[in-house]
Amino acid sequence: MTRISWDSRLATVANRSASKIEKAFGFRTVGDLLQHYPRRYEEKGRLSSLDAVQIGDHVTVIGRVVSSVQREFPDRRRGGIAYRLEAVVATEKDQLGLTFFDKRKSIAQWRARSVAEGATGLFSGKVGEFRGERQLTNPQTRMFVDTEALAGEDQATIAWQKVPELIPIYPATASISSWQIADTIGVALDLLDRVPDVLPERVRREQRLLDVATALELIHRPETWPDKTRAEQRLRFDEAFVTQTVLAQRRATLAQMPAQPRTGRPGGLLDQFDGRLPFTLTRGQQRVGADILADLALPHPMHRLLEGEVGSGKTVVALRAMLRVIDSGGQAALLAPTEVLAAQHRRSLSTLLGDLAAGGMLGGAVEGTRIALLTGSLGAAERRKVIEDIESGDAGIVIGTHALLEEGVQFADLGLVVVDEQHRFGVEQRAALSDKSLTPPHVLVMTATPIPRTMAMTVFGDLDASTLTELPAGRASIQTTVVPLAEQPAWWQRIWDRVGEEVEQGHQVYVVCPRIGSMGRGVEADETETDDTGRPADAAEDSTAGAGMAVEELAPVLRDGVLSDVRLDVMHGRLPADRKDAVMTAFAAGQIDVLVSTTVIEVGVDVANATTMVVVDADRFGVSQLHQMRGRVGRGSKPGLCLLVTRAKADTPARSRLDAVASTSDGVQLSRLDLAQRREGDVLGASQSGHRSGLRLLSVLRDEEVILAAREAATRTVEADPELADVPDLSAAVRRLDESDQATFLERA
Ligand code: ADP
Ligand code: MG
Repeated sequence: MTRISWDSRLATVANRSASKIEKAFGFRTVGDLLQHYPRRYEEKGRLSSLDAVQIGDHVTVIGRVVSSVQREFPDRRRGGIAYRLEAVVATEKDQLGLTFFDKRKSIAQWRARSVAEGATGLFSGKVGEFRGERQLTNPQTRMFVDTEALAGEDQATIAWQKVPELIPIYPATASISSWQIADTIGVALDLLDRVPDVLPERVRREQRLLDVATALELIHRPETWPDKTRAEQRLRFDEAFVTQTVLAQRRATLAQMPAQPRTGRPGGLLDQFDGRLPFTLTRGQQRVGADILADLALPHPMHRLLEGEVGSGKTVVALRAMLRVIDSGGQAALLAPTEVLAAQHRRSLSTLLGDLAAGGMLGGAVEGTRIALLTGSLGAAERRKVIEDIESGDAGIVIGTHALLEEGVQFADLGLVVVDEQHRFGVEQRAALSDKSLTPPHVLVMTATPIPRTMAMTVFGDLDASTLTELPAGRASIQTTVVPLAEQPAWWQRIWDRVGEEVEQGHQVYVVCPRIGSMGRGVEADETETDDTGRPADAAEDSTAGAGMAVEELAPVLRDGVLSDVRLDVMHGRLPADRKDAVMTAFAAGQIDVLVSTTVIEVGVDVANATTMVVVDADRFGVSQLHQMRGRVGRGSKPGLCLLVTRAKADTPARSRLDAVASTSDGVQLSRLDLAQRREGDVLGASQSGHRSGLRLLSVLRDEEVILAAREAATRTVEADPELADVPDLSAAVRRLDESDQATFLERA
């Protein structure tokens, strides 16, 4: 028989299912097919459990036919007689109804013989509901028959002796069943000449892993559960190893790139700033600050991720790094995700620096620097002036949105780039910035979205990570309460009474809504607002009724009603930039009591006098997003209150998510919950089949140890053999991953 290779076209597997599989899953090669691993395995002789099965799922189950009745009925459309077989199959502890419609008498007769009482087989189809019972209509079947003689040519039957002890159940579709996939994979495995091997033999032995050919065989055709476990261990390690090799290579490349060391100078801006700080740095700020200063002094670019809860004081850490660079004759750029935040950063950095930021101006410190804000909404004249300041080097700190990268702005000497909130900053942007200076700048990425360690390692594996774990002392706590309007409609009024009381005490209040306006969809998507997946926050399946309350609906109601006595204003991404800035400035100055807003206030906004946040239709937001939003209150010494208002009913998943947010202030725990609730593939930007992410068996949440071991092994492998010349299959896999759009999952969360 002719052998086939891993890269052969799928069609070379002489099997009639090959083209259907190609259509259903987009697999092109034999390798693609063989990496379509079973979703689970069923034991021969046992019936499937329906516990996790829901209406609408495509399922493949083993069941035993407990009743089967065929009826004839007049076929109105075609005339003549048609046949309906109604069967019930028993599963582990439930029953599943089956209905088959047949037109030809011969097929109907065959059907009645094969799906007969007492018969066992595999049934596959989309789960529907009929009279409150789960059922399959016209499922695909493969019946297990007693003797080989009865087994047909047609794939619809298989002799009992030939049913494997562990039956692999593959992700399947209506056009191609799990067992057709299994058969095709079986043919391919029998003909395959060689399986690419990405692991150096040394690593394989150290990790006590199966050889790859055996692992591939046993993931598809295990005889025992331990077979399957061993196979998974090997293939899972491979996935982690390829990913970590890409990252190890990137780290190695970075370590060789030249950068200007920035060692600062005694008595410079940094020293002056430290000398007049109105508070002491937390231990974390000191430790991370020292790490960063050490990085900046190296002749290679720093690439550091700074994680820390909202309010943990990341901005001060970043500012100190910027001052060190300015003290060394360089400039620093600070990139913010939105114009609002860019403007807010300008305000808070100006406040922190005082006259140190008034360099060259009357009354400024002699050696001070200057802050420039460059956004898309500047007038032409002002813009020209700002660009001049940047090009001349007069502006030591340049704040802007990502527009800063696209503009033809040249820096005199860009030494450091600080990115606030990583989630929309990828490698291309880093590259764009590096082009703006002679040597690649140092990069510091700040994020308030805590990422589990292994996630960070996979997604940001080429960055060194630092974490601020403690909040500055004297920070009051935030109390979070769920307001369940479904059971307590009267509490709606009490919310606004409470808001009124806060305002009377001189405090300020945020009211956050999931949408901007009541107009049709599309208009709603606001490019400045994304939740932590990068989706527009208020594009959340906007079917209007379910989409939650809008700023433009709620604000007038409050203004004309319960809150007519307070100074109330609105804020959302569709306001003109100067308006947004004016509103934020007024709110920061205490000239607005209640701000009704979308999530544009989500990240980084810092108004110490704001004590209360009301999130309307809170169930429309993600867990991590809610956690970040509530960090806007309780930033001063006054305790914060966050009300999560929902119309969701008790005991729904929406309510339990809100209860979770209310019950803990541990951002890492909430972020885990958030990730667990989304499919991991979504987080990594994988397609549904998991086929394109490169991660089929590996879970960045569960498989921490595997990732750590793979990272270690990958780092050593790259050190010993930077070009991977000794492991050509690894080199090819790495190149494929690095070049494909799959690599984006290594850059963006
Ligand atoms: P983050 O950016 O991490 O959310 P910020 O840097 O904005 O936090 O800090 C939040 C607030 O805490 C700011 O008003 C800041 O001036 C203040 N702050 C920062 N570090 C300290 C500290 N060590 N002690 C007291 N207050 C601090
Ligand atoms: Mg901040």
